[in-house]
This record gives sequence, C-alpha cells and structure tokens, in this order.
Amino acid sequence: MADDEARTATKESADAKQQEQEPTGGQTGTDQETGDTVTEKQALHEGGTGDGQVTPEGPGSTPAGERAEISNFEIVNHYFNRAAERIGLRDDVAAVLRSAYREVQVQIPVTRTDDRIHVYTGYRVQHNGARGPYKGGVRFHPEVDLDEVRALASLMTWKTAIAGIPYGGAKGGVNCPAGELEAHEKEKVARSFMSKIDKVLGPTRDIPAPDVGTNAQTMAWMMDEYGKLHGHTPAIVTGKPISLEGSYGREAATGRGLVYMYREAAAALGIRPSESRFTVQGFGNVGSWASRIMQELGAKLVAASDAFGAVRSDEGLDAEALASHVADGGRLRDFEGGEEISAVELLETECEVFIPAALGGMIHKSNAERLRCKLVVEGANSPTTPAADEILEDRGVFVVPDVMANAGGVVVSYFEWAQNLQHFRWEEREVNEKLGRIMRRAYREVAARAEKDEVPFRLAAYEVGIERVADAARTRGYIS
Ligand code: NAD
Repeated sequence: MADDEARTATKESADAKQQEQEPTGGQTGTDQETGDTVTEKQALHEGGTGDGQVTPEGPGSTPAGERAEISNFEIVNHYFNRAAERIGLRDDVAAVLRSAYREVQVQIPVTRTDDRIHVYTGYRVQHNGARGPYKGGVRFHPEVDLDEVRALASLMTWKTAIAGIPYGGAKGGVNCPAGELEAHEKEKVARSFMSKIDKVLGPTRDIPAPDVGTNAQTMAWMMDEYGKLHGHTPAIVTGKPISLEGSYGREAATGRGLVYMYREAAAALGIRPSESRFTVQGFGNVGSWASRIMQELGAKLVAASDAFGAVRSDEGLDAEALASHVADGGRLRDFEGGEEISAVELLETECEVFIPAALGGMIHKSNAERLRCKLVVEGANSPTTPAADEILEDRGVFVVPDVMANAGGVVVSYFEWAQNLQHFRWEEREVNEKLGRIMRRAYREVAARAEKDEVPFRLAAYEVGIERVADAARTRGYIS
C-alpha cells in the first residue's frame, strides 16, 4: 500500500538522517535496543533506580555521549510515585493523578515534494485540568510517540502547579522529521494537526505552544487554521510572533527563567554568577538564550554543543557571536572562537554550572560521573535519569530540576495568553520582571519544602506540585 510504503520510507529516512547528523552521540540512533535500557528499566520497575546492575563501561551500558534508553514516561512516573508516597497520597487518588484525562491520536497524511503521501501520527494528551485550562507545547520530531507525549503532559501538570500559574498540563506532538521538512511541508503538518484536534482545544480549554521542532511560525499557522474554523482567536496558542499578538520576552523566556533559578541556587551555594563558568548541552532556543543572559551577568560560557558537535574555549565562547553563527546556518563545531571537542569532553569540561538543554535522558548512569560541575540547572525536560540523579546527589552536585527550572516558557506563555484575552500588550521589561517574581517565588517555596522535609529539590518540587493539584481536584469535587 502506498501509505505504508511512504510511512516506511519516511521512518527509514528519518533514522538514516539521525545517524548521519549526530556524530556527538545523537538522540537514540542505532543503540535503541541495547541491554542497558532493559537493565535501568527493570531496576526502576523493581523500585530501584537502575544503578548497580551494570558497570558504567560494562556490557550493554549506554555510551557516555548518548541518551539513556529509559523513556521520559518512566522518568516522570518514577518521581511522581516517590513524591506521592512521601506525602501519603491515597492510592486511588494517585491513580487518577498519574493517568491522563484525555488522549487524542490523529492521522496526518502529507503529500511531500517527492509526490508521495507520508503518513504521520499526531497526539494531544490532556493530562490534568484541575487547576485551569490544559497548557503545553507541540513537538515535531521523528521520535515522538504516545508515551513521550504522556510524560511531557504529566510534567506540565506539575510544572504549572509549582510555578503557581492557573493552568493544567498537556502536550502534543507529531512524529514527523521536522529537520528535513521544507517550510511548506511543515505548514501542511501544522495546519492538518490543528484542524484535527481543534475540537478539544480552545482559549479556555487547551492552549498549545512551541516545543522542539516547532516555533513562532508554526504557532502562526496553527492560529490561522483555528481562526478559519472558529474566527480570529489569538489566545488559542502562545509563543506566536510579535506581529501576531505574541508577547515580548516569550522567545527568551525559558532561558531567562533558568538564569533566575541559577541566581537563586548560586547564592545558596556561595557561587558568584559573575565569576562562574557554565556549559550548555543543546545550543537551541533554550540553551542559546540562557547562554546570552548568563553572559550578561558576567558568567563565562566554556563549552556548548548541538546535535552536530561541540566546542570549548577556556577563555570563554562569545554566546552572542555563537548564536549569530548558528542563526546564519553555521555549525557549532565550525565556530572560530573555540576548539572542537567530543560530546564526552563536553561533559568533562570543568565549570560551576552545567545546563542540559537538548533532549531527555542525556545524563544517565554511564556518564553522570563525568560531570565536573557544582550545579546542574535542567533546561531540557527529563534530561537526568533517576539513576544519574542518585549519582549526582551522592557526588554532592546540586540539581535544580526541570519541573521548576524550565518553567519560564510556560510562565510567559501565561502572560501572552492574559494579554491576548485583553487585547493588550505589556512592555518587555514588565514581562521580565513579572517572570523573575514568579521564578523566585517557586524557587523559595520548593527550597522551603526541601529544607522542611530534608529531601532533594526534585522530590520537594513534585511534593508541592502534587499537593496543589490534588487539592484543586478535591475542592472542585472531581475526586473525593
Ligand atoms: P531546540 O530544538 O531549539 O533546541 C534543541 C537543541 O538541542 C538543538 O541545538 C539541537 O541541535 C540540540 N541537540 C539535539 N540532540 C542533541 C545531542 N544529542 N547532543 C547535543 N545537543 C543536541 O529546542 P528547545 O525549544 O531549545 O528545547 C530544548 C529542550 O528544552 C527540550 O527538552 C524542550 O522540551 C525543553 N523546553 C523547552 C521550552 C521552550 O520554551 N522552548 C520550555 C521548556 C522546556
């Protein structure tokens, strides 16, 4: 059948492209079936953390520069289960909060320039809406599947609760090879996806935003498609271009939020941001903005990577120049202001703070020992596996977890939505100040909980988030 053939061809070409594109260790590539995954997964299912079963360099272990093969879903549920147990959440309530409220799967057939129909699958998972409309990004990436979208939707529920903004949690995705689609093909995917899920969306129901493989342009197409069906509705998506009622400060918001978190953590650890060195894994939207804003504080970017390679400079890479180099189509590894290094050397670069801002599972039990930093501020979602988290804790590396650290994007999305509902625009300074207030408040509330319960920040953050969601669900009468 033509569709099946096209689907197979597309999958093969996506796989081939990934192998070709990722000399630094890449996303999961050919090692997806190694025994290491099974070991870490099995240990998790047995209530452990996955370490101790295989030596870091032992047979079947994940090479140090690659992603661990444990799913984001397992990572998020591992932390949810531990926190739920700690706060004594009833099993039946935990079962409600662990699973998603609604999961939609749609077919997206797209005729590409090869004149063949390529069939992609789109997902929208609405995890929990107790605290407000569902909110979460849309990812275009060949590895998107239902489990990943579920995990990311669940993470959004806890993230919005920890940040204290009036949203629930959702996530969407299409398993298309975004990196190899031409702009008009990406537009077809975005419009087709929106036209098939519009009935479960709405400015008071569920509001998508950009994520990996999507951007302000994608949101503009999605808003336009929704408008054809329902009339002009800017508040249907956030992360839009400024010319279409996007918010000042939204593009940089996740990176800026990380820096607010870093400043709080640095003060607690006695690190002076202006004298600190930092490394960024994944110099994309989040990583490059975090770098530019860290540099404004006087901090030095000593190493950075993307899917194609990594660079280092002990004197410091110029984050602005590096971002321009990438925006002009250059590769990090070709940047003249630094020397090319491997993915493993990136991990081993000595610095005060390491910022993972690529994909999930990049810090795992086979490479967590290699980090040479005092602090990890998680920009990516689920970058650290539970086994790696334990190793970092044992080594005294302080972790500001994803579920609070990278909330800046959704916080400014909330501001964009609020501005859209009023057809009003705030100045960038106002946006950044309000973002700072929310990020600092979240940090201090989690820090207080961590101190009171004598638990790491990640567990404390989940405890805070779960309690807020359970309380809202109970108060509304959704659960008793
Ligand atoms: P992006 O696509 O702009 O950037 C991702 C970067 O990671 C790219 O530079 C890519 O080349 C790099 N990368 C991919 N594989 C890599 C590898 N194996 N080694 C090193 N680098 C690699 O995406 P983004 O929007 O910056 O998102 C990055 C992460 O942050 C994701 O996990 C996303 O879910 C999370 N996040 C994003 C936002 C947001 O507002 N954009 C908000 C919260 C969380």
